Amino acid sequence: MHNVVIIGSGCAGNTAAVYTGRAGLKPLVIKGWEAGGQLSITSEVENFPGFPQGILGPELVENMKQQAERFGAEYMDGAVSEADLSKRPFRLRVEDQWIETRTLIIASGASARWLNLPSEQKLIGHGVSSCATCDGFFYRDKQIMVIGGGDTAMEEANFLTRFGRNVMLVHRRDTFRASKIMLERAQANPKIEFIMNTGVEEVLGLEQNSVTGVRLKNLVTGEETTRAVDGLFVAIGHIPNTKPFVGQLDLDADGYIVSHGGARTNIHGVFHAGDVQDRVYRQAITAAGAGCMAAIETERLLEAEGH
Ligand code: NDP
Repeated sequence: MHNVVIIGSGCAGNTAAVYTGRAGLKPLVIKGWEAGGQLSITSEVENFPGFPQGILGPELVENMKQQAERFGAEYMDGAVSEADLSKRPFRLRVEDQWIETRTLIIASGASARWLNLPSEQKLIGHGVSSCATCDGFFYRDKQIMVIGGGDTAMEEANFLTRFGRNVMLVHRRDTFRASKIMLERAQANPKIEFIMNTGVEEVLGLEQNSVTGVRLKNLVTGEETTRAVDGLFVAIGHIPNTKPFVGQLDLDADGYIVSHGGARTNIHGVFHAGDVQDRVYRQAITAAGAGCMAAIETERLLEAEGH
């Protein structure tokens, strides 16, 4: 029986592990399929306070893990495939093992939705990114392309015009899911070129191990074109990792955990931290802050219960 199990080993999970570890709760962290979370697939992180020269994403997250281990946190490979939150102790299935815990911190994150082209997957971190705030800075005076037609795509395209020479926004239809205000702002930006009814066929640059261009296809005429590109930002949404909790936790229409104040969920003893609940900020530092909040609430609950 564990005092606290933390699902996820990104910024939120690791921070929760540092705090609950330091509180003497011996947290168990279940790493998940994408160990280290989204930071593990970014390159340099320049906006995490405390690192004036920046730090590599994988290094930052590994440092957090080591810090948590110093305070007695235990890390376990694997991901939760099933959960029973109907009563305490909560039960979690990891492969063929069931784990019992008094409290649970869900920090399983959200995964960027990708186009799932083999060339795109191979060039993630080498010119392909899912986070303009994280990686836009590296494309000063470069040619940038954004994929998507929602608010994120509009926001990222606008943001990226601060850096790029030009930003092409490629969308598969001729109408947008984005809100009117966000769309109009992007349309009014002279540095954004809209390319409509168009899909990505292939990302170029495998030989150089760095994006050099994108092969596009007009989905109405079938015509193919190649555009030179240095940075490709895929902004086609995120998928929160909440599958094992469907039907048990309050989730919104897109599957994000609904907060019941602070780090609380609708279930007493189950807390949320990071991108699994946050669709707005999605930053390493906000996830870390949320991990800290969840840890403090866990600690107080266990203390009140005499554990
Ligand atoms: P959305 O789901 O709103 O939009 C995703 C976009 O990606 C759609 O245009 C969709 O095309 C396109 N897309 C999806 N899959 C593919 C694919 N395989 N290939 C090509 N294109 C694809 O996601 P967002 O991340 O934009 O937004 C998520 C939520 O967050 C929304 O509720 C949004 O309003 C909100 N948000 C709000 C912001 C703000 O207010 N400042 C900023 C950012 C997000 P199609 O339209 O054809 O389906």
